[in-house]
Amino acid sequence: MTLAHNVSELLKSPLGAARQVTIDEPNPRLGPDLQVTRPVHGNARLVRTQNGILVRARLATTVSLECARCLDPVERDLTIDLEEEFGPSVHILTGAPLEAPDDEALRIDERHLLDLTEAVRQYLSTSIPLQPLCSTSCRGLCPVCGMNLNEGNCRCDTASMAASGPFAALAGLTQQDQDQPESADNDRPRTQPRAKGRTRAAS
Ligand SMILES: [Zn+2]
Ligand SMILES: [Zn+2]
Repeated sequence: MTLAHNVSELLKSPLGAARQVTIDEPNPRLGPDLQVTRPVHGNARLVRTQNGILVRARLATTVSLECARCLDPVERDLTIDLEEEFGPSVHILTGAPLEAPDDEALRIDERHLLDLTEAVRQYLSTSIPLQPLCSTSCRGLCPVCGMNLNEGNCRCDTASMAASGPFAALAGLTQQDQDQPESADNDRPRTQPRAKGRTRAAS
């Protein structure tokens, strides 16, 4: 099934009735902030409860993010364990309106469609890494000219310019992890921790 599933049969079933479903959603409508590059897939267990239907699902997908240093696309596999109780908005037999859950994401609509999309979007959003990196050795962008330093070296004198520029702190951060063998070239600028000529108070 996709992320939306008609649960009219399950709603007519006795308490505790359960259904196991396989989810494979190639085109989830997750909004502009979440670009999935693989279908949202996994398994879900739907259980009829007093108030509606309890969904427990383990779902996985791959999202496309931006490297926090060089802004190149980064793909990340995400897995979520979702557990939410969905409530119907109309009575399954009479069609009379019911007091649906306040959270719209957890409402089963009038046509008995239980849509996991919004819940999945929320779970995925909270599991995205805050500082995704294309590689732990990503060299980021030159703080002076903006060149992607993974693609080569620019001619900027970043050692002196960056130290005073607005990106000084950022440059220091990006250069800390640069002891990878792949960047064995020696003409790469490096910021060395500088001893600040601290004058000692004469005693
Ligand atoms: Zn990067
Ligand atoms: Zn540069």
